[in-house]
Amino acid sequence: MLTIPDTRVVYAIGPDAAPAATCRPGDLVEFETKDCFGNQIEKECDLFENVGWSTINPATGPLYVEGAVPGDTLKVTVENIEVRPYGVMVAVPKLGAFGHLIKESSTRIVPVHGGQAHFSPSISFPLDPMIGVIGTAPAFEAVLCGTPGPHGGNMDTRHIRKGASVYLPVSVPGALLCIGDLHAVMADGEVVVCGVEVSGKVSVRIDVLKSIVLPCPVVEDAENTYFLSSAEDLDEASNQVLEAALYHIMSRTGMALEEVAMLLSLTGHLEISQIVDPLRTARLRIPAPVGKKLGIRLSPER
Ligand code: CA
Ligand code: ZN
Repeated sequence: MLTIPDTRVVYAIGPDAAPAATCRPGDLVEFETKDCFGNQIEKECDLFENVGWSTINPATGPLYVEGAVPGDTLKVTVENIEVRPYGVMVAVPKLGAFGHLIKESSTRIVPVHGGQAHFSPSISFPLDPMIGVIGTAPAFEAVLCGTPGPHGGNMDTRHIRKGASVYLPVSVPGALLCIGDLHAVMADGEVVVCGVEVSGKVSVRIDVLKSIVLPCPVVEDAENTYFLSSAEDLDEASNQVLEAALYHIMSRTGMALEEVAMLLSLTGHLEISQIVDPLRTARLRIPAPVGKKLGIRLSPER
């Protein structure tokens, strides 16, 4: 299997980065990833403020996919995620939903073993490893790895886990896929500004859907199809993702706008991925049985 080592990282996802590796559609590729702090926090006395800003939010890549050209969609299926035996959390003044209340910066090391993240001696959580940053290069300007957008990026969406497929736009030849920022577990919202941040290894199957353009990044698993959109605030992100799904379903089904609008009111579950990144990410979840009836499932085999 092709492996991209975590020495090949970028801090922005852009069209001009030199590829770290090249693959063909159908290939399995392993990305070794650093955590979002560039692996610089190892002890509880290591504070977020002391992390070098220039080495925060690294993503591994980019991966050049042969035959992928603008106007295609890249399908990235997460085959496996391995995480290291400890994770890092921080609470930092002025960051996240509680930043105005947090007086002092603190760090917590969370042991990760036995299938659990051990937050404290009495509180532990089943691991649910996910990918925070996954994106393709935008056509023109590079986007910092900490920011989500139409290219994917730091979407911090917990459904990007083993078994899910992520559909991203191909905006430059080769797509230039980057992956980083694994979390051993995280809740919707990511309210304190992080999950259990870990380094690790992700193996993904790469496919190219020719001449298919989606209105926004899409994640699909056996249970649901998720449309994702990021904007300055959640209202805007919600409106964007709703309109993207509305027009997408209209074009796939030929149904009238009003009818799709009603349907989305019944079966389009509006959810929050994260509220702590430079742009907020809203998510529209459409259950697979509905997606199948509408013919919008991207992986019709499941
Ligand atoms: Ca993140
Ligand atoms: Zn993270």
